[in-house]
Amino acid sequence: MKAWEKNIRSVIPYVPGEQPQQSEIIKLNTNENPYPPAPGVVEALRSMDVDLLRRYPDPSAHDLVKAIAEYHGLQTDQVFVGVGSDDVLAMAFLTCFNSGKPILFPDITYSFYDVWANLFRIPYDKQPLDEDFLIRSKDYQKENGGIIFPNPNAPTGIAKPLDEIEEIVSQNQNVIVIIDEAYIDFGGESALPLLAKYDHLLIARTFSKSRSLAGMRIGYLLGNPELIGYIHNCKYSFNSYTMNQTAIDLGIEAIRDDAYFLACTQKIIETREWAKEQFRSLGFEFLDSKANFLFVTHPNHSAEDIFPALKKEGIFVRHFKNPKRIRNYLRISIGTRDEMETLFAFFKRFIS
Ligand SMILES: *Cc1c(COP(=O)(O)O)cnc(C)c1O
Repeated sequence: MKAWEKNIRSVIPYVPGEQPQQSEIIKLNTNENPYPPAPGVVEALRSMDVDLLRRYPDPSAHDLVKAIAEYHGLQTDQVFVGVGSDDVLAMAFLTCFNSGKPILFPDITYSFYDVWANLFRIPYDKQPLDEDFLIRSKDYQKENGGIIFPNPNAPTGIAKPLDEIEEIVSQNQNVIVIIDEAYIDFGGESALPLLAKYDHLLIARTFSKSRSLAGMRIGYLLGNPELIGYIHNCKYSFNSYTMNQTAIDLGIEAIRDDAYFLACTQKIIETREWAKEQFRSLGFEFLDSKANFLFVTHPNHSAEDIFPALKKEGIFVRHFKNPKRIRNYLRISIGTRDEMETLFAFFKRFIS
């Protein structure tokens, strides 16, 4: 090791799902929405005043914050927006997890949590899911420096009922509890009603999945004004202008069109439930997902064999090699009905 290397912050980065560049593929590997963004988004992009790009955007992204606050029936000072929920979650880690005590999250969950903890040198203690892949509430009763988990969890898709979420929140009032609701719009129960009751609760949301805007990078946190203020102070000490003007303008259109949003999420939910029947009839086993993906395994075919066979057909899904317990599972995003028909046509051939 060179002398200067001793002073380097050396981390193992998060590895996102593959973004293949060829066009003729079926992409079911990163839980993107198979439907286009709301018509208003397309219109706003077409009629954009490009000259405005000379200027810095509004650092507070006020118009977008206002649209999000209105959508949820909250005040604007309860909303923190950023460049995807990855950005807002990283800011929340930096701002909230400074006790020196380990933060708690599940052993099988969104694999960015331990990456941020390592980056910011936050100690953590992973809590194993039970034999049914459920988050055990009692694991979150011990002393800790904060708590984060997704609801529904990823990559299992399993949603925790609101009373169990509240139990964890109410038992940890001396630390910040973050519920990552990236997939909540596909059928789980949101922790939003708890915000009025608990000032140590943060809820993270994203436009990437249910609002078809992964490419725009928009995410937000909801919490009490004081806590949101602390996160703003950290953000403004880091980079004032994270949200670009295009993202602000298009995000407003996406959150305003509730009818389109509900129609898309409903279609995805219906396709998911139909896909469950298809997987079942092909002998797959899977967890009861309330998200826009299914976590599936087959007793007679290993995930390691299915994954490359699918890829050869131009169908991309996600395979996690770690931890060992999920090595034989594939996470398959819910695409359009047509895309899923193609997937099942392949499986019918592959399995027989
Ligand atoms: C996709 C995802 C995110 C990140 O979403 P972005 O807004 O695109 O950064 C955060 N948490 C979970 C659990 C996710 O699956």
